[in-house]
Amino acid sequence: MSLPRAERLRALGLWPTWRKRGAMAASVTAGAPPGGQERVAAASDTTAIASMDWDALREAVSNCTRCDLHRTRTQGVFGVGDPHAEWLIVGEAPGADEDRLGEPFVGQAGRLLDAMLAAIGLKRGENVYIANVLKSRPPRNRDPNAQEVAACLPYLERQVELIQPKLVLALGRFAAQSLLVTDTAISRLRGQVHSYRGIPLVVTYHPAYLLRNPADKARAWEDLLLAQETMARLGARALAASSSP
Ligand code: SF4
Repeated sequence: MSLPRAERLRALGLWPTWRKRGAMAASVTAGAPPGGQERVAAASDTTAIASMDWDALREAVSNCTRCDLHRTRTQGVFGVGDPHAEWLIVGEAPGADEDRLGEPFVGQAGRLLDAMLAAIGLKRGENVYIANVLKSRPPRNRDPNAQEVAACLPYLERQVELIQPKLVLALGRFAAQSLLVTDTAISRLRGQVHSYRGIPLVVTYHPAYLLRNPADKARAWEDLLLAQETMARLGARALAASSSP
């Protein structure tokens, strides 16, 4: 293992104890059929969102009143990074720091996310876009409810359409279950390559969870390697397709 890799693992708190386990099975599973999430937002609004450009979408989030979270938030947190990124990182919802600063994944969890990205050679803002399922902070960081998810998801869906990422990394149970429309436990969603609207999706733990449960950082590292390997395979496939007659 090269020194840079060791340094990256050290930043995650995994070096020198982590050793790669047996190769994790990578399989493609389709998301479960829709169900459980009530689509309460007005259909006309949702249709308008689906045709917005980037600036209009950002403006719509900052003025959004589609769910009650607008009453308690400081500001909508649209997302941050390269709008043409190959990597899309999706978390749950803004916390107190994000609500105050208007950027996802700041503070301690944000620093750990940056270290996780660095571990696979990525950097916030460079070929990476970071967003949340919910754009407004739930009071006292409670779990978002189904109505809030239904109201807010069209924004993320439009972001995905505009960014056209090659891979989605879902951080935490809530993001994974919302995107894959399933109630399957995160422990069973990890270790596979899922499909979100035809885009490969890999699930790992939320950095805030990892701060509370550092023993699971080794599993998160395995997830990051799976994501990295999946992206490499996509690149190789694209290269082969472009060079074939
Ligand atoms: S959470 Fe989403 S739907 Fe609700 S007010 Fe904020 S931007 Fe609008």
